[in-house]
Amino acid sequence: MSAETHEFQAETRQLLHLMVHSLYSNKEIFLRELISNASDAADKLRFEVIRAPELLGDDAELAIDLLADKATGTLTVRDNGIGMSREEVIANLGTIAHSGTRKYLESLSGDDAKTRQLIGQFGVGFYSAFIVADRVTVLTRRAGTDAAVRWSSDGQGSYTLGDVEKAGRGTEVTLQLKDDDREFLDPERLRTLVRRYSDHIGLPIRLHAGASSGETINRAGALWARPKAEISDDDYRAFYTHLSHDPTPPLAWSHNRVEGALEYTALLYLPSTAPFDLWDRDHARGVQLYVRRVFILDQAAELLPPYLRFVRGLVDSADLPLNVSREILQSDRVVEKLHAALTKRALDLVEELASDRPDDYAKFWKLFGAVLKEGLVEDAANRERIARLCRFASTAHPDGQSVSLDDYIARMKPDQSGIYYLAADNLATAKASPHLEGFRARGFEVLLLTDRVDEWVALHLTEYAGKPLLSCARGAADLGGKIETAGKTAEQAKYGPVCERLGKLLDGRVESVRLSQRLTESPACLVAPEHGLSRRLEQMLKQAGQSAPEFRPVLEINAGHPLAQRLTDADPTEFADLGELLYGQAVLAEGGRLEDPAGFVKRLNALILHGAGDKPSIIIGG
Ligand code: ADP
Repeated sequence: MSAETHEFQAETRQLLHLMVHSLYSNKEIFLRELISNASDAADKLRFEVIRAPELLGDDAELAIDLLADKATGTLTVRDNGIGMSREEVIANLGTIAHSGTRKYLESLSGDDAKTRQLIGQFGVGFYSAFIVADRVTVLTRRAGTDAAVRWSSDGQGSYTLGDVEKAGRGTEVTLQLKDDDREFLDPERLRTLVRRYSDHIGLPIRLHAGASSGETINRAGALWARPKAEISDDDYRAFYTHLSHDPTPPLAWSHNRVEGALEYTALLYLPSTAPFDLWDRDHARGVQLYVRRVFILDQAAELLPPYLRFVRGLVDSADLPLNVSREILQSDRVVEKLHAALTKRALDLVEELASDRPDDYAKFWKLFGAVLKEGLVEDAANRERIARLCRFASTAHPDGQSVSLDDYIARMKPDQSGIYYLAADNLATAKASPHLEGFRARGFEVLLLTDRVDEWVALHLTEYAGKPLLSCARGAADLGGKIETAGKTAEQAKYGPVCERLGKLLDGRVESVRLSQRLTESPACLVAPEHGLSRRLEQMLKQAGQSAPEFRPVLEINAGHPLAQRLTDADPTEFADLGELLYGQAVLAEGGRLEDPAGFVKRLNALILHGAGDKPSIIIGG
């Protein structure tokens, strides 16, 4: 049958263009990508063979062959793996299956490093062949079928597709190398590249070039099954690239073989870059699952909790059946145990990084801290461990350097009633908050929580190492016995009526009004009632369109402030104006919105014009 011509999907064309222009400085990666695909194809075949042994036929020795032909200037990567049907060829080699690709393509600029990383994440490995080839031709035959397909393209905008004869199952990718890229026919060059990038591939890679015919040039054993002592750091890094498609080296890894009631090998990595879809909750994630060296599943999300979704790697279990499916995974006892064991391993790995390499841990925390913190909410059993790993900004470090809860506790003053924190939208708002004044004046450190998840975190992490976590913006601040109580009763007597009058004025907007222990500079602030949601959490819920139970805040006034003193002898009109101003500025100071901003501004202007001590009182709307 004659070949027909197909246009590439628009994204594919764009991507091809980008790739050829951004990866030219790192051309050799095409070989790694094609070998990786061939190895995946062998994995997929092994997996199908579990259910259909006849697929193997008499071609049971799975391998990858590299054929370098100087006479024709072609390099071929050949496998006897799963192969592709006609439909699969069109779907896999004519489109980019990953959704949202266009959006990310559009966000790419001329930034090569970023492009390179994103290209890895799109999983567009195959197209990298066009970096070195004028034409790429693919012959492929799906295991279990007789029909074979020939796909061919110059990478410009279209490809041809035709039916052909092919002797066995599997795929042959032939690159007509560009004149400048003939180096990839040199046996020594190929040997070096395979050793550098593909040594860990679990099946033999055989070189057919010049005098070499069929010599195996890689180590050909599953990397994780080898003794740790024989594996170099470079091996671990190369394997990470193969497994994650992330070209940046990992921050850390751990490799464990466990025997006993539960038998498995785990190889876990902490990446040094965050995937672009880290926050996309629908995106499947997780480590790869192998059963006795046989690849079973990519992204087995059941093996690790969502708050560890940044962990990459694999687990090879000796206890699960080969025919395990996603459905079985969700309810299997062994999987449950593996889940607990791997969670522990992953936390071990993070802990080790935190204690041994604080600088790298700071990088890790910046990338994944907000994800790990979800564990405080989701994983009660490991809450204390996760809390120990958390880092927060603090009033002890104005430069923004973060601290751990253990650091904080080591610095706690003896008369401190707990670990103080303040949640705010950003660091600047947090630092300027009136809620901090009393704590600052007493030299108490306060943790500044500015991640969106922090409010939830604080709800669940109510204590750490026996110390309660206390919000500076909630309840009657208990600042310890440091406050001079001598003048307190007198103050109370003087301001009792003021608080009461203010309460009536602001009825419906505040729960009550009281004298503040936490203010030293500002005249007033709002705090959450002892058992209510924090104001900020309430706002977040409303923004998210959820119904939040209405807790009216408490208005606290600072008896030491001239404005508060003025209230004591104000006439009713002035009292109302000053009261509104106090309330309004307390709302603004915590980043809130005024119900009547125009009225607030009028009152403020009147106060400015007439001066603070200047009677008669402010006249509004007059
Ligand atoms: P990725 O491997 O990241 O999915 P590629 O662009 O490299 O992206 O390949 C696209 C798809 O084409 C693969 O997912 C696979 O389904 C198919 N494919 C590529 N090479 C082979 C091969 N040698 N054998 C079988 N299928 C292949």
